[in-house]
Amino acid sequence: MRQRLGGRVQKLAIDAELGCPNRDGTAAYGGCTFCLGEAFSPSYCRKARSITEQIDLALDFHSSRGRSANSYLAYFQSGSNTYATVEHLKSLYFEALSHPAISGIIVGTRPDCINSDILQLLDEISQRHYVAVEYGIESVYDTTLSHVNRCHDFSTAVAAVTATKARNIDVGAHFILGLPYESREAIIEGIRHINALSIDFIKFHQLQIYTSTPMAKEWEEHPERFLFSEGFDCEDYISLIIDIIRRLEPTIAIERIASEAPRHLIAHSPLGGVRPDKLRDMLVKRMHDGGFRQGDLLIRE
Ligand code: SF4
Repeated sequence: MRQRLGGRVQKLAIDAELGCPNRDGTAAYGGCTFCLGEAFSPSYCRKARSITEQIDLALDFHSSRGRSANSYLAYFQSGSNTYATVEHLKSLYFEALSHPAISGIIVGTRPDCINSDILQLLDEISQRHYVAVEYGIESVYDTTLSHVNRCHDFSTAVAAVTATKARNIDVGAHFILGLPYESREAIIEGIRHINALSIDFIKFHQLQIYTSTPMAKEWEEHPERFLFSEGFDCEDYISLIIDIIRRLEPTIAIERIASEAPRHLIAHSPLGGVRPDKLRDMLVKRMHDGGFRQGDLLIRE
């Protein structure tokens, strides 16, 4: 990103309030069992109404924390950001792009919320600005996707990624580690299927159990279903991440290895209170100490 956009790049999260077909009854009611909307959005998203206001507040937010960048990308993060008419999406994306600080957009969405008209719009925008689509895939296993009420299967994700890449648009994918019934071996073996996707970047998140979600109830009643049950700690998580990285295609940029959320929303996380930046430092040290590299145990389908 530094090479392509020149210098340090910062994403600014946007909540376009487009909702989710998995909550409003189009795909399902209730949403994915792990999902808690307020855990995704930074506080500044909730204080502002328009896209422009959110960008301004986001710039203030990062600047007050001493972070500056050469380029900023509007990151349509919360909900499903292709879940609207093409006209409405166009107005949202162009409002972001008309902000003088913004160099491009990253659009987070579900794999079943994309079509050729929306891809055409993104393709046109990508002729003049940086564009990436980030798909929430979460698992390569249909049994898991069904269990967490995801309401799409893995083949839908493969089709969405393939169609997006065919437009020469950067594609990212988001996976959650530790979903119910997924063993350590299954997670690692699943990298084979991830490597077969034409993705440019990937985000891994530890499963965090958010309070008041259906998954919090499942965690309470059936802790044995979860890899990250009591006793699985931060060092175990780093070991898992190392095993994943060593099997991952070296061309896939790893954007994230863990997520954060306000503590009062978390019922359980394998990381305890360890922050993602500290986790990254611990990971890098263990990779260096072990002489490991991304893809040195590459597995393919
Ligand atoms: S995780 Fe995404 S798709 Fe699932 S309910 Fe939440 S916003 Fe909808």
